[in-house]
Amino acid sequence: MLRLKENGLPTISSEALARAAGVKPTQLRKDLTYFGSFGTRGLGYDVEQLSGMIADVLGTNRLQPVVLIGVGNLGAALLAYQGFGPEGFEVVAAFDAEPAKARTRTNFPRILPMPEMMRVVRSRNVRMAILTVPANAAQEVANQLVDAGIVGILNFAPIVLQVPEDVTVNGVNLAIELENLSYFIQG
Ligand code: ATP
Repeated sequence: MLRLKENGLPTISSEALARAAGVKPTQLRKDLTYFGSFGTRGLGYDVEQLSGMIADVLGTNRLQPVVLIGVGNLGAALLAYQGFGPEGFEVVAAFDAEPAKARTRTNFPRILPMPEMMRVVRSRNVRMAILTVPANAAQEVANQLVDAGIVGILNFAPIVLQVPEDVTVNGVNLAIELENLSYFIQG
């Protein structure tokens, strides 16, 4: 849908949409009528209206809540980053072992002490966390996140985390990325 919008065309035919989805046009038209009738014969579907409707049905209109743990230099930089919202994510709160010190690094309004983390994660039904604590604290904090109900961790700490099978960890190690890059530019 995002691709369609980027194309800038105001409408799309059910044939073209069906081709993109890999289904028959008749099936596509029938399926979409379950959500209301908004296609116009001969004109097709209004892209804006259709994408809004699909987002409503899938619940992707709401921003997916994320928490961030460890408001050091990296954590503070990520809190200032404006690129999460347009992709559908919102950092709803940040946590730090030393919230007062952390607050001096950023204008982000919701920096809370660690004991508050579980309550916030549960009450806002948060499933993903960004982890920017130092390596020596990362495993302990990951355990707390898992206990609170987090099932996806974006880990910036340069260690491999041990987590239960149903929890996914994606590691981002910026120093290693630079090292990889430097390998390619030698010569
Ligand atoms: P960065 O690596 O982001 O440049 P830094 O050097 O500014 O960080 P670090 O020592 O890496 O600071 O710590 C990052 C943040 O993690 C700090 O604000 C620190 O208070 C916090 N922190 C450290 N241990 C814990 C912990 N166990 N639980 C929560 N926060 C922690």
